[in-house]
Amino acid sequence: MNTLAVEGIGVIGAVGHRLVDGDGLSSDGWLVSARRVPSPNHDARPPKTVISLLVIHAISLPPNQFGGDAIERFFTNTLPATEHPFFATIDGMHVSAHFLIRRNGECVQFVSCLQRAWHAGVSCWQGRDRCNDFSIGIELEGCDEQPFEEAQYVSLNALIEILTRAFPITAIVGHSDIAPGRKTDPGPFFVWQRIVGAGAALI
Ligand SMILES: [Zn+2]
Repeated sequence: MNTLAVEGIGVIGAVGHRLVDGDGLSSDGWLVSARRVPSPNHDARPPKTVISLLVIHAISLPPNQFGGDAIERFFTNTLPATEHPFFATIDGMHVSAHFLIRRNGECVQFVSCLQRAWHAGVSCWQGRDRCNDFSIGIELEGCDEQPFEEAQYVSLNALIEILTRAFPITAIVGHSDIAPGRKTDPGPFFVWQRIVGAGAALI
């Protein structure tokens, strides 16, 4: 089980669209310094939902290839099915995540944190189904077969710092933890100990 209790998250700096500690979250749930690519694939969270869970994912399109804009196009329903054989297999899916951290650490936001993004699918965390209701989804551009980049851990830690300040987050989990047997991401190369403040809290 890759689960982190949240405590003692540190301060991490970065540049450009990478996140820096002190960056704010706007009142409508958008990060000031993230590049915004609004996705239509979202809806309202159930009334009075407390956002308490962060879900770490990994994605690459085509699989195991990095770069390009395919992930952004996938999350905005503009990925041509004819452009790659794999794209045809995901054609018509309507999914999103709140955030994507690219290989160079750039942070892209697709959905306001206040809205429900469609990243977890059928899922369960500590007896609660439908994790999309109460979680924020963070995609890392990556796969099950290659290490993640240093810049991604830097931006991820800065993002976690901001989100845990804004919301009463109680756990950080992998997609594979809330959809076991169905999902493997963020995969064996994601180093949970790189999340600042994990330490003995790793359970
Ligand atoms: Zn996932």
